[in-house]
Amino acid sequence: MIAVTVRDDSAKCDPSLFGRAVLDREGVLVHTTDGVNSQGWLQGGSAKAGKPASCDFLVQRDGTIIRLVPRGTYSYHAGVCKWEGRVDRAGKVSQLLIGVEVENADSAGQTPTEVQHIAVAALILRAAWHHAFSPLSVYGHYGLAYPMGRRSDPYGFDWGYVMWLLAHNRDALVLTGDKAF
Ligand SMILES: [Zn+2]
Repeated sequence: MIAVTVRDDSAKCDPSLFGRAVLDREGVLVHTTDGVNSQGWLQGGSAKAGKPASCDFLVQRDGTIIRLVPRGTYSYHAGVCKWEGRVDRAGKVSQLLIGVEVENADSAGQTPTEVQHIAVAALILRAAWHHAFSPLSVYGHYGLAYPMGRRSDPYGFDWGYVMWLLAHNRDALVLTGDKAF
């Protein structure tokens, strides 16, 4: 069994970085942070800098998952995206897809750790079960960001490994700690 810990730090988040969720979740959107110590940025620093951006979850280098925004809300993580053939400028994609930031110094050529991939897989499974979507309903930010090429994350993310975990180690992935959903 691979236990992944979830910590709820949502009380620390600047309220300008999330909204009340009204749409059901349909999947997961994976990002990399392109930075270090990103929790502070995603929970308030970005708003102070005039570039408000957050995420629902942050996966630390050691695989710890941190819930960044309160349950029942959604974070502003996707930006302008193309979704089902239409350009979304209204934040619909941020609400439909659960945002997962993987702490990674993209620009320094760093790639996500093995335990980060395991944590993302466990989070996908749990989210899929809770919200009744397919565990294959997972996207990379670069695949949806509009115009195409606007984003290049998740950088260095090993999709094959995550899909292998989801397909073959499903029963071994367990979330512990605070309730994730
Ligand atoms: Zn991103």
